[in-house]
This record gives sequence, structure tokens and C-alpha cells, in this order.
Amino acid sequence: MKIAVRKNASLDEQRRYRRQYDRDRSPPLRSAFPQLTQLNIELSFSDCTGAAPKEVSPSSQAHAFYPAAQAFFRFRCPCADCDGEFDLTGSVAQIAATTTGRGSRTLSAKLQCVGTRARDRASGAGCPIELSFRIVATGSP
Ligand SMILES: [Zn+2]
Repeated sequence: MKIAVRKNASLDEQRRYRRQYDRDRSPPLRSAFPQLTQLNIELSFSDCTGAAPKEVSPSSQAHAFYPAAQAFFRFRCPCADCDGEFDLTGSVAQIAATTTGRGSRTLSAKLQCVGTRARDRASGAGCPIELSFRIVATGSP
């Protein structure tokens, strides 16, 4: 068992390293989406099974991206022991494509975590976290 735990930890480290690597290689917002002056992403999470009464729903997050920020839109599942992440890259590209000129566009949707929590690895049960997100893209005047 000890070996399995250590192996998982190292996989997590590799995943963290890989994320950091991908983030470092992301272009700044101003070159990925030159039409945007600001991008706001709000994330809120719920445990859609409601099966864990002892756990409080993870707190919501708000991220603001300015032209110099790296255009990296993958967010880790808030469950500490979950290997999942929410990839909003496609949604950001979609809303950015429709944002032209002055004004802002909003996109809201939900995503189910596709990761597995360490405690559920043996059973293979999926992570119960559901993300509700809102993206607000502001175009340049
Ligand atoms: Zn998860």
C-alpha cells in the first residue's frame, strides 16, 4: 500500500509540473485574444451528489485576466485529493470570437469534474464536484 501511495504522490507532482509547464508556455492574453481588454471568470462549485454532509461546498473563485496575463484557462478541481481539472479554454475561445468592439459578452455553463478523488480510486467512482462558471469578456473600444 505504501508504494501505491508514493506512486500516486509522484503522479500528482508530475501533473502539477505539467500544468505549470503548460501555463508558462501560454501566450499573453493580448496576443491570444487581442480584441479583449479584460476577461473575468467566476467559478462556483457544488457537490452534486450531496452525499458528503460533513464537507462544505468549496468556496467560489473569481479570476481577472488583463492583456499581460497568461492565457491559461485550466482550473484545478477544488477537492484537494482529486486529479481533475476544468478546462475552459474552448469556452473562452468561443466567447472571445464573438466579442468585437466595445462592450462585453457573458457565457455561463456547467461542467462536471471528470477526475477521480484519491479516496475513490479503488472503487473508480467519479468526483461529485460540479462547476458553474461565468465568463465575461470585455472588448477593446
Ligand atoms: Zn474533482
